[in-house]
Amino acid sequence: AVTVHDAHKWYGAHQVLAGIELTVQPGQVTVIIGPSGSGKSTLLRAVNHLEKLDIGHVTVNGEPIGVRHHRGRLKEISERAILAQRRGIGFVFQGFHLFPHLTVLENVAAAPAAAKRKSRAEAAELARTLLGRVGLADKVDAYPRQLSGGQQQRVAIARALALEPGVILFDEPTSALDPELVGEVLSVIKDLATGGTTLIVVTHEIGFAREIADTVVFLDGGRIVEQGPPDRVLDRPEHPRTREFLSKVL
Ligand code: ATP
Ligand code: MG
Repeated sequence: AVTVHDAHKWYGAHQVLAGIELTVQPGQVTVIIGPSGSGKSTLLRAVNHLEKLDIGHVTVNGEPIGVRHHRGRLKEISERAILAQRRGIGFVFQGFHLFPHLTVLENVAAAPAAAKRKSRAEAAELARTLLGRVGLADKVDAYPRQLSGGQQQRVAIARALALEPGVILFDEPTSALDPELVGEVLSVIKDLATGGTTLIVVTHEIGFAREIADTVVFLDGGRIVEQGPPDRVLDRPEHPRTREFLSKVL
């Protein structure tokens, strides 16, 4: 499970996370929604310690991420140890950040080969399988610039899968795409969701949230205002802030 304990974060005097408690059970899909600036990306980035919390901490399968307990306090672990933990937590951003000089296959095979978990041949084999899974078997030898945005984002998803992470984080994976390319990326994420991967997804696509989420979390002002199954939070929200937000985005 992924747990967020008592997460607080400030940028100067501005409080961005104000005491978040969240648990995502293995194989479950949690979708985070909320207005711009509500702290969604900060929360997601805190999960793999790309953002450091001022108070609180995250655990993945019971292991604190980026910190360890030391004499009753939390102490940051080494950069090397953090990088090792991050290999177990996939991250797919809004932009694709593919290596432009590597082919699609090489982009996906690079991480497992570099992590020395696999031989080059094994890494290439895995990359082929994953690219097949995201519908890009015929693009393995192409370069990123030869692909559409939706195809590039699917390569980014295959790359995140290549380290066989227990958890994958998505931060608005479709927001940089032309509308006609959104569906193909959502459908790949949907396959992951039904395949039992633990996912935390930040999205503005409310219809998509309804389809894949086990739990929808509505964040506002760095607080969880409301969370629960999609039919409750999205169709029968209890809190006026949730209602107001949904009335604007739906
Ligand atoms: P969006 O939907 O626009 O992506 P968000 O919910 O992801 O918004 P965050 O990116 O988590 O919001 O930002 C939360 C708040 O923290 C915002 O007010 C933002 O301006 C502020 N913030 C984020 N990063 C920094 C930073 N590096 N320095 C200062 N303030 C920051
Ligand atoms: Mg964001």
